[in-house]
This record gives sequence, C-alpha cells and structure tokens, in this order.
Amino acid sequence: MRSISVFGSTGSIGESTFDLLMRQGGPERYRTVALTGGRNVARLAEQARSLKAELAVIAEARLLPDLRAALAGTATECAGGPMAVAEAAERPADWIMSGIVGAAGLAPGFRALSHGSVLALANKESLVTAGPLLMARARKHGATILPVDSEHSAVFQALLGENLATVEHITITASGGAFRDWPMERLAAATVAEASCHPNWAMGQRITIDSASMFNKALEVIEAKEFFGIDPDRVEVLVHPESLVHALVGFRDGGMIAHLGAPDMRHAIGYALNWPDRAHLPIARLDLARIGSLTFRNPDPARYPALRLAREVMRIGGLAGASFNAAKETALDAFIAGRIRFTDMAAVVEKVLDRLSATGGLGKVPDSIDMVLDIDGQARRIAAETMQ
Ligand code: NAD
Ligand code: MG
Repeated sequence: MRSISVFGSTGSIGESTFDLLMRQGGPERYRTVALTGGRNVARLAEQARSLKAELAVIAEARLLPDLRAALAGTATECAGGPMAVAEAAERPADWIMSGIVGAAGLAPGFRALSHGSVLALANKESLVTAGPLLMARARKHGATILPVDSEHSAVFQALLGENLATVEHITITASGGAFRDWPMERLAAATVAEASCHPNWAMGQRITIDSASMFNKALEVIEAKEFFGIDPDRVEVLVHPESLVHALVGFRDGGMIAHLGAPDMRHAIGYALNWPDRAHLPIARLDLARIGSLTFRNPDPARYPALRLAREVMRIGGLAGASFNAAKETALDAFIAGRIRFTDMAAVVEKVLDRLSATGGLGKVPDSIDMVLDIDGQARRIAAETMQ
C-alpha cells in the first residue's frame, strides 16, 4: 500500500489533494502517515477520519486540545505547533505533498526529502528561498521533487524526453490577475476584496492577491530557474488571459511544445500523484473549437514591478530569494490588514532588498536552512520598520 502525507491539507492545494486521494480509493488504497493544517481543526479532523490518518498536526499549538477532542475515539495521534509539523515530515512516506503556504513550508519539505521518496512541491517559496539546498538534498537522498505549480508541471511534462541543452526558452503564462485591465491610476485604491478575486483560478487568498500584483509570477520565474537549472534570461512570462496554456518550451530548432488544460489544480496534483503513470482525472476537457481563440501579450513592466524585482533577485542570487519572499510576505500581511496600499507592496520589497544589499551579504550562498531562516527574519524586521 502506498504511504502518503499531506502538509497544508486544509488549504486550497490540500483540499484538491484530499479530493483526488478520496476519488482514487482513499484509505483502501493509501496509508496516510500524516496530515497537517494551520488552524482549521474541524476540517483537519474530518480529513483525518476519512483517510484514517496515523497522525494529525495543527500548526497553531493552542488548538491541540480541540483537535484531540475532535478525534477522540479514533486511532489518530494528535500533535500541535510548528515543531510538530516539521517533525511529522520525519515520518517516512512514499509520496508527500508540500502544500503549506509561505516560508513556513520550507522546513517540513526540506526534512521530508531525507526519505528518498517523492515530494510533490506546491510550496514554491521553498525553491525561491532555498532552491540549491533543496535540490542538493533531493540528490543526496535519491528523492524526487515533482513540481505542482501548474506552470512548472506543464514545463516538466513538455520536457519529458528532451535535452535541456536544446531549450531556448521556458515561457510561463500569467492570467494578469484581478487588475489586468484596470486603469493604472486605480491600482493604489484597490481593496483586499478586489485583489482576492482571481479571473480564472480558485486558490488560497494569499496566492490570489499575489496573482493580482504578479508577485506570484515573480516567485514562479525564480522557481523555474531553480527547479530546471536554466539561465534566468531564458525564463519568460507571457500574459495569457484565458489561463488555458500553462507554459511553453521553445527549442533551438524553432519548435515549441505547449501544455494546455482547464485551470484546475487537480491536474498538476494528480499528475504528481500518479507519476510516472497518468490516471483518469476529473478535469474538464477543453473544447478548443468552442473556445475559438487564445490570446497572449507581454506583461506591462509598469503595472507589474514585481517581475523586475525577480530579475534583480536572480541576478544577485544567494540569499536574495529568501529576502525577497520574506519581505513580500510581510508586505502582503500589511496589505491584508489594511495597513498599506496595494501598490505599496512592491515599494516595500524593493526597499528591503536595497537595505540588505547595502550590507553586502545578500549574494552569500546559504549552506544551511538556518542561514535562510536568519535572513528571512531580518527581511521581515526591515519590512516592518519600513512600513512604520
Ligand atoms: P492556502 O492558504 O489555501 O492553504 C495553506 C495551507 O497551509 C493551509 O492548510 C494552512 O492551514 C496551512 N498553513 C498556513 N500557514 C501555516 C503555517 N505557518 N504553518 C503550518 N501550516 C500553515 O494556500 P494554497 O493556495 O493552498 O497554497 C499552498 C501553496 O501552494 C503555496 O505555496 C502556493 O503558492 C502554492 N500554489 C497554490 C496554488 C493554488 O491553486 N492554490 C497553485 C499553485 C501553487
Ligand atoms: Mg502557478
């Protein structure tokens, strides 16, 4: 029986993963080693019951008694707190979903790689903050990282059987987010509710707002560079409002391979879950004749300053990715809390990068997760100071 764990199982990626696991046989087919959630005790307990999980962990430690009460009478062991989440990753499983949002997903994913199993990586922040460390750990332990971000899963599939040396460019598409067609002068007054509506994808709130600002795409460009080991200049972004072509790979003979599909994360998750096989998945099929046309355009640099910052981060390398992500997470928290404007987020991130660059330490290549977490903390403090 295949053993699995899901980190962030109560989130958007986690729910889609849970849905596929249940459709593909649930506890009859999978032995669930661990499920973790942030705060939603009731949902975590329901999932743990359905999958007969051996361990359920709630990241918010004060909620542990509630989780114990919700799972009373079951054989599921309960734990709470961030350390317990990371420790859950020490339990071997054949397939592990890294579906926590933000830098909080780094430590569990990193630890999970030691089993030499498959890590389905939705948590792009892990690669942005500590890509070389993660990839090296996977190699050392013979683990396989499969990208779950839809664009990266698409590139992965387009590259099957290809030689990376023949690739001219990897192009990831972007919907353009909630404000794609807004007049620029309205952006500063954009509300959290407005930024939380994605034109095509149903996702967690943070990534949805990051889609409106294109910080999500900025993270994804860095993620692509780290995962595929490709020169940053060869990673391109194209705005594609229909969100049906997820990525294109261009080769030196002039040919391009594109990956298309409905905007449903269960495709990329199901691909990773069943890899190297392909299983029947409950994804809407595209009727291209009915869709008629697909449109593309270059992203407007003035509307999406995050893309320029991502280029700068890749140029610096080292600890720049972790600083960028931490500053972005702090600015996003402040925007969600109503403390800064939508357009202030990029300005805050830029200031943090400038301040940390001035110290000269940003290009340093981290040799441990602790070094990454240290700069993450510094960047959060500077971001908070900047917004006072
Ligand atoms: P979400 O907010 O819906 O869910 C996040 C999960 O992580 C929840 O289970 C939450 O409880 C848990 N969590 C949050 N903070 C935590 C913490 N500090 N410690 C432990 N657990 C914590 O987010 P999501 O949209 O599912 O995104 C998850 C990851 O997948 C992100 O890295 C995101 O960029 C990536 N991703 C998501 C989608 C999507 O469609 N939602 C698509 C591509 C990539
Ligand atoms: Mg994506």
